[in-house]
Amino acid sequence: MGAGPLPELPHKTAGGLQALLMFGAPGAGKGTQSQEISRQLHIPHISTGDILRDAVRKGTEIGRRAQSIMEAGELVPDDLVCAMVERRIAEPDCQRGFILDGFPRSVHQALFLDGLLRAQRRGGVVAVNIRVDQGSLLKRLTGRRTCPKCGTIYNIYSNPPQKAGICDRDGASLIQRDDDTEAAVQTRLREYRRQTRPLIERYRSLGALRDVDGNLEPQAVTAAIIHLLKAS
Ligand code: AMP
Repeated sequence: MGAGPLPELPHKTAGGLQALLMFGAPGAGKGTQSQEISRQLHIPHISTGDILRDAVRKGTEIGRRAQSIMEAGELVPDDLVCAMVERRIAEPDCQRGFILDGFPRSVHQALFLDGLLRAQRRGGVVAVNIRVDQGSLLKRLTGRRTCPKCGTIYNIYSNPPQKAGICDRDGASLIQRDDDTEAAVQTRLREYRRQTRPLIERYRSLGALRDVDGNLEPQAVTAAIIHLLKAS
């Protein structure tokens, strides 16, 4: 972490803490953007998908419960994911705020998060909706490759590593997610439309939603998000 003073987060309230929620269809760039914003604002990036994939790799009880559901592109049960998030945001590095990527994904999860933030007297919530044309989503998902070691996300079409199949940062072999296959992607898009998209309107009606054009270059999308956070 850099030595300079930490940037103040917008939307500070009496609680002084903030949750940044990343919304967008699978493939919209939530993970890529969350990584970069986390780096620039020095707040943790919490991806429920990453935590679950880690649990699957380690073969934990949660991982065993989640594996086949994730491979099919369906949503893991709310109770399991809510408990995971509750534990994670109670950790000290979340004190100044945090980015939630992939949570909440259902009305139940959104209500649970409301309760958690209230109970912990957290500050404001900003929800960012990354909008991407339908046509680009499939290409983004099938072209995605991830470093299993550091989590860096590449795309073989739009953001390839310098050496094919190898992470620029640590030289690990890149992998394709099990649920980036065509069949699982279709299920994920359906689950998104059915369960998660209605949440966007919920946060919009609460005055907390900001739309961002996710068709731009990744750096331009990051700049737009940082700009709107400062203006919030
Ligand atoms: P993601 O990396 O966010 O695309 O998530 C990958 C998969 O993990 C999803 O397709 C779900 O199976 C599961 N998952 C991640 N976050 C959640 C959540 N908030 N609720 C239920 N399932 C989730």
